[in-house]
Amino acid sequence: MNCQGLTGKVILPCDAEYNCARQEYNEAINKCPLAICYCRNIQDIVNAVLWSERQGIQVRIRSGGHHYEGYSVGTDKLVIDTSCMNGIKVNSEDDTVEVQAGTRLMHLYKTLYNSGYTFPGGTCPTVGISGLVLGGGIGLSTRYLGLTTDSLIEAQMVDASGNLLTANNCHNVKLFWALRGAGGGNFGVMTSYKFHLKKINKVTLIRLKWDNKSARLGFLQAWQEWLRNLDPRISAFGRIYKPGPLLFGFFYGYPEEARQLLEPFLSIPGITYENIEYVDFIDAVKIIGALYPLREAFKATGRFIERQLSYCELEKIIDLIEAAPTEDNSFIGLYSLGGAVRAMKTDSTAFFYRQANYIMGISSSWESEAAAPVVEEWVASGFKYIYTLSVGSYVNFPYNNLPNYECAYYGEHIEELRSIKKEYDPHNVFEFPQSIKTVYCG
Ligand SMILES: Cc1cc2nc3c(=O)[nH]c(=O)nc-3n(C[C@H](O)[C@H](O)[C@H](O)COP(=O)(O)OP(=O)(O)OC[C@H]3O[C@@H](n4cnc5c(N)ncnc54)[C@H](O)[C@@H]3O)c2cc1C
Repeated sequence: MNCQGLTGKVILPCDAEYNCARQEYNEAINKCPLAICYCRNIQDIVNAVLWSERQGIQVRIRSGGHHYEGYSVGTDKLVIDTSCMNGIKVNSEDDTVEVQAGTRLMHLYKTLYNSGYTFPGGTCPTVGISGLVLGGGIGLSTRYLGLTTDSLIEAQMVDASGNLLTANNCHNVKLFWALRGAGGGNFGVMTSYKFHLKKINKVTLIRLKWDNKSARLGFLQAWQEWLRNLDPRISAFGRIYKPGPLLFGFFYGYPEEARQLLEPFLSIPGITYENIEYVDFIDAVKIIGALYPLREAFKATGRFIERQLSYCELEKIIDLIEAAPTEDNSFIGLYSLGGAVRAMKTDSTAFFYRQANYIMGISSSWESEAAAPVVEEWVASGFKYIYTLSVGSYVNFPYNNLPNYECAYYGEHIEELRSIKKEYDPHNVFEFPQSIKTVYCG
């Protein structure tokens, strides 16, 4: 392979760093790219896109490397990796920030906190801003501040011809719409983003836990009732494990009020850990971030729930948990939506499922390779059941075996997205197993 014209730091299979460089966050992913190009600036990205076209080699785009199914790498592909481009420029005059595409969340949270700002990102500290914002972005500020993508006011992208484009509400308007919810890997290589910010530096951190199996059903009932009419200043994630449920969240207000809002949970018997305290935003982010391992082998996915589930359906979820392969790392996840997400019109961005009440996820991980098939089987059977309760899939919680993935991720927005794909990537240069197709394939 002739690497002439490829700039930045290029790692080839013969290099000592190759095995480390090809590794995604999900250790179950095992792909062998032809080369990994760590771009240091926009010109390196342009060169990589043009080089791949000359060589007839397909590309994959990577930033934080947290794609559940590993679509940011690929065997025999060129990986265009932006993780070295992680500059952040805060502008306090107009409450905005410019963030390079390879920035990871904790770096962003810390920088913004130092200037007095909160940020509606996700919970895992090493997730990349790119995958997060391009797929929507859900976290513990979502119901108050919207999806991560709802704070985006501008983005820059290198297209398939190597041109640098700016997308905002005045330029490349359709592209800007598409990037907010359907941008991950589909239209070009993003180089930077501009977000508007809110000045807040304290939140009430919420952590509740029950080591009690009999709390699980009551927790599920409380969760869906709770979200019906909930104060948008509170957002939460729930997890139901075999031994019992837990809840964590942020409230943009004081603990006394949070406590009142949490009454439906606090009254569930058997609570073993309760922490509701007013802390610096950055401390809240760090405490929640500590829940995530540095890396793990896992299988997970998640679907949007729009309706109240019946008692019988909730019981079946509990049966599913009871059948989980492990106690500590298999769970049904709940991710609150509504509030500021629902307040925006469905067609305001490509993110389609704004009416959903929450996402229900299923997740499990393993340490020994031998356990992988059992875990994957449990996730597959759980997915099958959750599918019947739900209306669509969150593109940032993707699943290889998802039927009709384009409609599942993008709902009625798919045809508009397809026409934008044809306009910006007519030769389908940016293709991966679940990319938006230029032609409907059925
Ligand atoms: C442990 C863990 C915790 C998570 N927590 C949350 C959470 O709290 N909230 C939430 O909403 N999601 C969460 N996610 C899901 C996460 O948002 C997605 O996995 C996201 O796509 C990861 O982005 P990344 O840049 O790290 O990943 P990557 O694997 O690098 O990229 C993900 C996708 O974006 C594309 N992409 C990456 N960089 C670019 C670029 N520069 N230009 C164009 N396309 C690009 C890739 O091609 C790929 O399709 C979590 C995931 C994990 C593994």
